[in-house]
Amino acid sequence: MRYISTRGGIEPINFKESVMMGLASDGGLLLPENIPSLSDKLNDLSKLSYTDLAYEVISLYATDIPAEDLKSIINRSYSTFRDEEVTPVRDLAGLHILELFHGPTLAFKDVALQLLGNLFEYILEEQGGELNIIGATSGDTGSAAIHGVRGKDRIKIFIMHPDNRVSSVQKQQMTSVLDDNVYNLAINGTFDDCQAILKEIFADVAFKLENSLGSINSINWARVLAQVVYYFYAYFRVKESSGKDIVNFTVPTGNFGDIFAGWIAVSMGLPVKNLILASNSNDILSRFFNTGEYRSGEVCFTHSPSMDIQVASNFERYLYYLLEQDSHKLKFFMAQFSETGSIKIDYETIEKKGSIFKAGCGSNEDTLETIRSFYESSGYLLDPHTAVGVYVARQFDDGETPMICLSTAHPGKFPEAILEATGKDIATHPEIEKIKDYPTDYTVVDNDTFVVKDFVKRNI
Ligand SMILES: *Cc1c(COP(=O)(O)O)cnc(C)c1O
Repeated sequence: MRYISTRGGIEPINFKESVMMGLASDGGLLLPENIPSLSDKLNDLSKLSYTDLAYEVISLYATDIPAEDLKSIINRSYSTFRDEEVTPVRDLAGLHILELFHGPTLAFKDVALQLLGNLFEYILEEQGGELNIIGATSGDTGSAAIHGVRGKDRIKIFIMHPDNRVSSVQKQQMTSVLDDNVYNLAINGTFDDCQAILKEIFADVAFKLENSLGSINSINWARVLAQVVYYFYAYFRVKESSGKDIVNFTVPTGNFGDIFAGWIAVSMGLPVKNLILASNSNDILSRFFNTGEYRSGEVCFTHSPSMDIQVASNFERYLYYLLEQDSHKLKFFMAQFSETGSIKIDYETIEKKGSIFKAGCGSNEDTLETIRSFYESSGYLLDPHTAVGVYVARQFDDGETPMICLSTAHPGKFPEAILEATGKDIATHPEIEKIKDYPTDYTVVDNDTFVVKDFVKRNI
């Protein structure tokens, strides 16, 4: 399989090159040249374990990694998950909750970042060289990225977080990883300051090359690919339990990576009636699917912080298909968006090509009310991101098609929201209890790009 850029400015590359490139060098996003179909194989695939299924899906795209090597990478990546099934499905209150939070940091980002860490390690081992990952986090991504590469040779990771502005659970999860290759930087500033520093560092191309810098953000194709697997896995489980052979998925959405993976699964032949996009009050994407207008605004802060985004970094991938894989048109729209903060796609085009998508949003109040009522009726705690999804799912439930709701985090990561919703301090997880008193290590650093660059240089 070869990979191309949405913006049409690179020669096709192979999978391993795409993993190392991350963002395409022409500023676009990488995509496979074609999307292979599994429609004829669904019956055979339905009997496989999670990791065997993952191999069948991923090997179609990672054709330059020998079978035995790829199997071993996949098996190691999911051996860190606490549930035997990796991503089990629970049938509750008339819905099917797909639990994606059994990885090391209790958020769905582990599904992708455990695999990406092992892919980086494998490729560096084979080709020689080193990788120094720099990232900025408002909480979840940073700890999943750290846990994806901790202890690995040839890789160092520097994660900036805003000092005293991430939750105590998130801070403990990141800073209690004491491996030699992990550096936590607490920046004297906000998350936006961390991102501004990151942008300035990556804009310095000479510095980037000199120091073999790489990133781990959600535009890496391998992250999307890892997520395609659980759409198939959940479909098979729900087909077994319900006897139905077409389903709906609802996806709590931020950067559009997770739901785009669902769209890839559907394009590979998975029988899905609707992919339902759920956003919180940052509703740029749900507005797009309902009106055709993609317009960014001010970020507002909610109980579901990992969905507090205004510009969805993976959206360009879907737009490319919506525009019939025309890179010229795509570049025109992206340029217009960066100039004016808004683009409009003819709504008929969306209806015609994208009718599988439905979209809705839920406010902070809807989130808390959903957590409360779901807990009352079923005794099961939803995390705030999942609750946004469940709230929106109810609006599109036709009572006939099984509704699978992606559960993207364990409620124990968000004890404050659970307390506010239920009046009870009941959200916890043995892993969080376990690390509570672990020693931590991080360096408080000035909000200054020069100081961060100097820190990185001194430590690699
Ligand atoms: C990242 C994240 C999301 C959003 O996923 P995208 O792929 O960015 O759309 C939702 N919930 C949680 C808990 C997350 O960490």
